[in-house]
Amino acid sequence: MKYIFVTGGVISGLGKGITASSIGRLLESRGIKVTAIKIDPYLNVDAGTMNPFEHGEVYVLDDGGEVDLDLGNYERFLDISLTSAHNITTGKVYKSVIEKERTGEYLGKTVQIIPHITNEIKAHIVNVAEATGAEVCIVELGGTVGDIESMPFLEAVRQMNQDLGKGRSCLFVHTTLVPIMGTVGEQKTKPTQHSVKELRAIGIQPDILVARCKEPLEESIRRKISLFCDVPIEAVVTAADARSIYDVPMTLEEQGLTDYVMQRFGLTAKLDELEEWRAFAGRIHDQERVVKIACVGKYTNLADSYISHLEAFHHAGAEAGARVQVVFVDSEVVQQYGITEELLGADGILIPGGFGTRGIEGKIATAKFARENRIPFLGVCLGFQIATIEFARNVLGMEGANSTEFDPDTPFPVVDLLPEQKNVKKMGATMRLGAQPVMVEEGSLAFELYGKALIMERHRHRFEVNPKHIEELEKGGWKFTGRSADGIKMEIGEMKGHDYYVASQFHPEFKSRPGKPSPLHFGLVRAAIAHKYGGTQ
Ligand code: GLN
Repeated sequence: MKYIFVTGGVISGLGKGITASSIGRLLESRGIKVTAIKIDPYLNVDAGTMNPFEHGEVYVLDDGGEVDLDLGNYERFLDISLTSAHNITTGKVYKSVIEKERTGEYLGKTVQIIPHITNEIKAHIVNVAEATGAEVCIVELGGTVGDIESMPFLEAVRQMNQDLGKGRSCLFVHTTLVPIMGTVGEQKTKPTQHSVKELRAIGIQPDILVARCKEPLEESIRRKISLFCDVPIEAVVTAADARSIYDVPMTLEEQGLTDYVMQRFGLTAKLDELEEWRAFAGRIHDQERVVKIACVGKYTNLADSYISHLEAFHHAGAEAGARVQVVFVDSEVVQQYGITEELLGADGILIPGGFGTRGIEGKIATAKFARENRIPFLGVCLGFQIATIEFARNVLGMEGANSTEFDPDTPFPVVDLLPEQKNVKKMGATMRLGAQPVMVEEGSLAFELYGKALIMERHRHRFEVNPKHIEELEKGGWKFTGRSADGIKMEIGEMKGHDYYVASQFHPEFKSRPGKPSPLHFGLVRAAIAHKYGGTQ
């Protein structure tokens, strides 16, 4: 097993996750089997208890793991399915060490950060990587070098490099920032020098530097960085601003990064196939048609809160034949001021998942607007529940219909707590989570889009359509064309008489991949194209 550790310097948000994913994609293009691990130095055991404003979307895996959104990038770039063990957090590591201490496993020793925490980290990385049967494991370290909370992780990976024969099985990739200053546009290397110095103080010498910069690095700047940081010039590469994240692998490939990594590890290429990926990245942008999708939610100030939807729309647009422009609309604004201009100009509308009461009435008003004006509509998870509430209120005349999540005393609880959730007190990892089978009704739109009757999709919810109201809802025209395997939980809704008014209790965005878009997002984009440009879908 070879390891590539990806660290970040200078500032956060440099696209470390995309660098890590792109390197993985490049190695895969040469026929190398790759897996990936994300380390998050926070104390939460997993991302499930965090608000999307903290670190962006909570990504959900097949096994129900609620993890950092970078695992979504790995799954999309590497076309693999990961498990929650691929996200290591400080909380997970300490929890396990403390449990071992309580059972007496340390035989009377003083339990310390070094070696007990660091050993735990090393063992976790090795066990997870080896279980996958991959040849290369990419380990991304969250946070920025110099943060107190990253220290035990950096120390652990420094030791791993020693343990595995210095430099033979481990490579360190450090991502930094090269700002451009002043009117002459000078590229500045000092932040990079300082962050490499910081890394070396911990005992880690980077092998590869990936510099984020607005422009490609000038030759003299690369030479300077190489000299000051003691990294060979061919291993100083630029990640200049790209059209989309899917172009980043090509940028790195052109600078010889794949060859460099292969040669450092002594790997031989079994393939050379980046063409399919290149063609896909091209299809995202090289489109004559453009459709606008409005995403109506309450985390709209941070695009990362809806990153899997954004990517699913890129995947869908590439295959449906349009560039998809997503505009964010704050549901609280709709609630206060009514249908906004962005909504009026949208070719399609998405109501994504969410929790809590804030902005709910704005979302209900949006669903009504889409239904009445026949705007292509997709509701996901909370969006599915919203569509149900709106229909009950405004079509079936159930005044005050609601979810008991928002109004425990509603006269028409058309959305209610799942029975198995009634006694749940602990909040972490207790929702209905992960991949669950869904039976799709033959002849439905969902069946046409999925092309099969049994699908596996990922879930994350506590509430569901109340079984007591299913019959009335269906009679009125809100048809449930997807159900759980036991037939009890409603999974997909389709509005009768509409071209595309579809919603799902599950999250199709999490399994969307380049070249294999989420069927429901594809359906929405296809309908949005028909809505804007006319013609049949
Ligand atoms: N709050 C809703 C529930 O718990 C929807 C969850 C979601 O959108 N992920 O069922």
